[in-house]
Amino acid sequence: MARQIKKKRVPVPEQDPKERIHNFNEVALGYTWELATEEASRCIQCPVNFAPCIKGCPVNVNIPGFIKKILEKDVKGALEIIHKTNALPGITGRVCPQEEQCEMNCVMGKLGDRINIGKLERFVADEARKMGIHPEVTMAPKNGKKVAIVGSGPAGLTAAADLVKMGYDVTVFEALHDLGGVLIYGIPEFRLPKDIVRYEVEYLKSIGVKFEKNVVIGKTYTLYELLEDYDAVFLGTGAGTPKFLNLPGVNLKGIYSANEFLTRINLMKAYKFPEYDTPIKKGKRLAVIGAGNVAMDAARSALRVGYEEVYILYRRTREYMTAREEEIAHAEEEGVKFMFLVSPVGFVGDADGNVRVVRLIMNELGEPDESGRRKPVPIPGTEFGLEVDAVVFAIGQKPNKVLYQEVPELKVTRWGTLVVDEKYRTTMRGVFAGGDAVRGESTVVLAMGDGKKAAKAIDEYIKTGEWPEEIKPQSF
Ligand code: FAD
Ligand code: SF4
Ligand code: SF4
Repeated sequence: MARQIKKKRVPVPEQDPKERIHNFNEVALGYTWELATEEASRCIQCPVNFAPCIKGCPVNVNIPGFIKKILEKDVKGALEIIHKTNALPGITGRVCPQEEQCEMNCVMGKLGDRINIGKLERFVADEARKMGIHPEVTMAPKNGKKVAIVGSGPAGLTAAADLVKMGYDVTVFEALHDLGGVLIYGIPEFRLPKDIVRYEVEYLKSIGVKFEKNVVIGKTYTLYELLEDYDAVFLGTGAGTPKFLNLPGVNLKGIYSANEFLTRINLMKAYKFPEYDTPIKKGKRLAVIGAGNVAMDAARSALRVGYEEVYILYRRTREYMTAREEEIAHAEEEGVKFMFLVSPVGFVGDADGNVRVVRLIMNELGEPDESGRRKPVPIPGTEFGLEVDAVVFAIGQKPNKVLYQEVPELKVTRWGTLVVDEKYRTTMRGVFAGGDAVRGESTVVLAMGDGKKAAKAIDEYIKTGEWPEEIKPQSF
């Protein structure tokens, strides 16, 4: 008899929106064994060399392979299949934009709902963690060569993991006092619990990766000094410099970049002030300018620190928002208010220099711009004011220049990203780079993919000493 295919996706239990806006605990509670098995059984097990889900994953996880292991109740087997190409499944299962990657291609989409690949991947990682299971790793004998990694985000962590397994002595230098890059200071606890990131970092320590925190390369040591002590250097320094709009009143108190706002909350625990040293401005109304994932994170964090009314101000319409659909839905459920077709034109403060009003102008959509999205065109005479106690800019980030401003050999693009070729070689011999530092704002899994490819190229370089006369830039 033909197998009955279940068309509907098994929902993932979530915290109630009314409760969760008062805490930082994870929103999606994850599958139980029963639910994971039910969802896994919907996968029709497309052959590995054809499975479109695998092609949609930037690191080509063998998805039908690990799903089959879930059905066999073999957590170690499932984890090992994933780990062949993805060292951070507890993280990617939670934050990858699956709907544009692995899940987008799932053939089940033609019959009903696509398989919930991300939540199954997360399930495997979480079960393995609970059971204390690690994948079997083959460690090559130590080869006496040293590699320095700058930045402990997903690009740096992935490069470090692969290189230490190849026998290198690997040290990761991190400017902050905690490890994980955006995973720790940017993405909030309610989407990615910090214990998950710390667990992955601890695992890297257990296989021999060394970490040095509070070290800013470009200040504490120069890149030239690193190159004297190490056989190669990988720059995974991310894109942590916020963009602002140069508008009247932009320097008023209470106007934050999303980076600062989220770092204060995530890393410095500002919501526990004065128990922790760092404060955050409290008030009734907060406006976030922008409509990507970072904007959703800022808006939802603002609710959790006590703001009663939180607005997303976006210059286009909903269909053009770049945030993940799941994040937009969660923000809506939690009561975030969306104002479309508005652009800020300035800010008005009180006598003490605190922001009190954001001045807005209405837009209409014009012709498509170079990104293919219709351009917002301001409508004269439609200015109005929105009363606020704080404003958060979430309109994008660019790479930080601290490290390379004193290094003329390193070529950067006009967007401030490092120039690299297809082997992630920069224009300076022995120096490689990947992740947001070369792509600009991107995703966790693409940063990991870069770290992986760069590790392979570093190994090749150290073994052969070959370096091209000229670097042919890779475009992203
Ligand atoms: P980063 O994670 O930025 O790490 C770089 C590290 O380098 C930092 O720790 C920094 O302190 C350190 N560093 C920088 N300069 C130096 C120096 N000179 N010396 C020493 N250390 C240095 N992506 C997704 O896929 N899904 C999401 O849901 C998602 N949500 C996001 C939410 C927010 C709020 C933000 C900001 C980003 C989000 N992203 C998301 C994007 C994703 O986090 C990044 O693309 C990814 O972290 C880039 O990894 P990376 O390793 O290149 O850099
Ligand atoms: Fe999907 Fe990301 Fe996992 Fe790849 S790494 S299978 S894109 S969730
Ligand atoms: Fe399973 Fe969908 Fe991948 Fe096919 S495409 S193997 S149904 S997850």
